[in-house]
Amino acid sequence: MIDPPGDRVETRGTKSPQTHPEAVGASPSETPAAGRLGSTGGSTTRAGQQGCGGGAASKKGFGSKPRDEWRAELRDEAWRLQDVLREITRDKAARDCNHAPVSGGATLVAGGGGARYTGLATCGKIHLCPVCSGRIRSARAVEMEAYVEAWERAGGGVVLATFTLRHYQRHGLQDLVKLQHAAWSRAFGAKAGKMWVRLKDEFGIVGYARAWEVTHGANGWHPHWHVLVFVADPWSEERAEEFRMAAYARWAAAVAKEGGYLPSEKRGVRIDVPNGDDSVAMARYLVKADKGVSWRLGSELTRADAKRGRNGRRTPFEILGDTADESRTEAQRAADVRLWHEYESASHGVRALWWSTKIRDELAKLTEVDERTDAEIAAEVDEDAVPIAVVPSATWYGHIVTVPGRKLALVQAAERNGQAGVRWLIKQWGLQWGRDVLPPPTVDYVDDEEAERDREQRARLDARERPAVRPEARLPVGRATEVAPEPERPSQGVLVPEPPHVADLDVLAAMCRANRARAEAGIARLRERGLLAPVAAEPKA
Ligand SMILES: [Zn+2]
Repeated sequence: MIDPPGDRVETRGTKSPQTHPEAVGASPSETPAAGRLGSTGGSTTRAGQQGCGGGAASKKGFGSKPRDEWRAELRDEAWRLQDVLREITRDKAARDCNHAPVSGGATLVAGGGGARYTGLATCGKIHLCPVCSGRIRSARAVEMEAYVEAWERAGGGVVLATFTLRHYQRHGLQDLVKLQHAAWSRAFGAKAGKMWVRLKDEFGIVGYARAWEVTHGANGWHPHWHVLVFVADPWSEERAEEFRMAAYARWAAAVAKEGGYLPSEKRGVRIDVPNGDDSVAMARYLVKADKGVSWRLGSELTRADAKRGRNGRRTPFEILGDTADESRTEAQRAADVRLWHEYESASHGVRALWWSTKIRDELAKLTEVDERTDAEIAAEVDEDAVPIAVVPSATWYGHIVTVPGRKLALVQAAERNGQAGVRWLIKQWGLQWGRDVLPPPTVDYVDDEEAERDREQRARLDARERPAVRPEARLPVGRATEVAPEPERPSQGVLVPEPPHVADLDVLAAMCRANRARAEAGIARLRERGLLAPVAAEPKA
């Protein structure tokens, strides 16, 4: 399975501090340690740098279809699946994600790898939201790759360990999740004790990243751990088998003590040793489960073959997609909705990715560590993206999201034909440019040269006009009509524009907010280029 070539682009962007809560909370049986999925921080990361490189490449290839089409196809699938989610989810944040304007409207931006909206809520829920999950997993995959490459360059090795439970259809997911966390803690975590420490020393285990995954099949829910183990020296197959036996003994005993069935001796613990370049694929596998199939969101809608190839086991997003599959019976779809709801509550608070204590410190000595939280990654906007239209809330709720497909159609129009495409499309919907959908602020302060020209021009105009303006002729606020011009309106020879009415004030407020966001982004970018002094000392990597 080929990984979509564009996914690095997702990790690009300014790392402005976010106030979103971390989407993935502590697991039921563990307290947060060094192993948070991320924390706030402003340092440039390895992933970020790679992303910038990818961005430059993708910018060059904006017209090069295959890459962008692939990306767009994945995005379209994720968005459609998100619409399905919105219908059935009990999670308000997931329902609002990519949907509810946070301040008066949505701004359509385009550039880099495609178009998207800003100014909408993002949920950052990796377990529930197809859109956020795709963004987060793509970024984490890049991060993981970088760690593994750096670790191996420094002479270390990695192996992929998988820990499963024995389970039956009657087992509820919630109970199985509790069991797997408790057993982990007892076998390899906080309650593991001296024997585990000794085993770690013996096998040169420095730390690990543990990913949670679940599928559903004939034997019910199948939650399991994928663990990328960082070892001091690469293991041989024999060494891996020795460890597998020792790890199985601990895992089986712990599961039994926590009240579970004894895991299968054959499948309870599995260790994969990389073969050449495999280690990087392993790193991706950890965060993009099922070798790139399941993470290809909503793939079940177009790729039933992929599902059959895995013994009928479905990922949660496949179950979600099936709830809207009209080739299935009502009863089947209702059963899938129940499964999804069970998954929603059981996955709540489960960490998608957990780092053992101190391993990230070790990795930080070798490469830059990505400090972004899931919520930050989910909310990030492409650095090269340029606003091309502002959709005020009234239009958004009145004409866009209420008609299935319009939200996506607008983005696709922007990608195909830019602002002209958007203007044409909204006209087909009976909406008016400049009234229902607005042009973005026209001055691009981010382009230094253009800003300079603009300033000069303004200075000249000011110098010319100022003496002529009499106090009574001064406008209360003169920007409204300038920002949202209506070119069709014939000139009526009015010398003094009317004071802005209520609708214009709304327009003004939207413009002000958009301007402010752009200015902040511009400042951040200048700071990144080192053209502005940092406000506070950067933390030393
Ligand atoms: Zn989301």
